[in-house]
Amino acid sequence: MKKPAAPADPARQAQLRRELERDRAVRLKGYREQALKLFPHVCASCGRAFEGDRLRELTVHHRDHDYHHNPPDGSNWELLCLYCHDHEHEKNLLAGHFEGRTAKQDELKPSIFSPFDQLDALLKQPDTEARTDDGSAASPDTKPPDPRAS
Ligand SMILES: [Zn+2]
Ligand SMILES: [Zn+2]
Repeated sequence: MKKPAAPADPARQAQLRRELERDRAVRLKGYREQALKLFPHVCASCGRAFEGDRLRELTVHHRDHDYHHNPPDGSNWELLCLYCHDHEHEKNLLAGHFEGRTAKQDELKPSIFSPFDQLDALLKQPDTEARTDDGSAASPDTKPPDPRAS
C-alpha cells in the first residue's frame, strides 16, 4: 500500500522528475564522474561507503553551493549520501533563516524531492511553456435581441 507523501501537484512532480532525470544524465558525465574519480566512494559526512548499484546514492555537493563552480581539482566538491546531502541543504536553509541562532532540527521531514543542486537549477530556470491550442473558437455568439429596438 502506498500513500502520497505530500499533496503536491503530480503533474508538476512528474515534470520536475523528468527534468531532473535529464539534467542528471548530462551532469553524470561531468563533475560527478570526476568527483567519483577523485574521492573515495564514501559519504564525507556519515562515512558510509557506497559501491556498485548503491553508488548512485552518493551525490556531489558543492561546498559553496554554486553548482557552476566546478574546479577540476575537486576543491568545491564533497561526496555526500542522499540523506546527508539533504540534511546539508536543509541545515543551510535554516541557517539562512535564523542567522545568529542555533537552528533546531529535531525532525527531518521525509520528502520525495531533495533540494539538490540540480533542483535549484531547475527552479531558477523558467519553464518554456508548452502552448496548447485546441482551437475551440466555435462558441456560438448569440446576442439577445435588443429590447429597445423600435
Ligand atoms: Zn551520509
Ligand atoms: Zn549540495
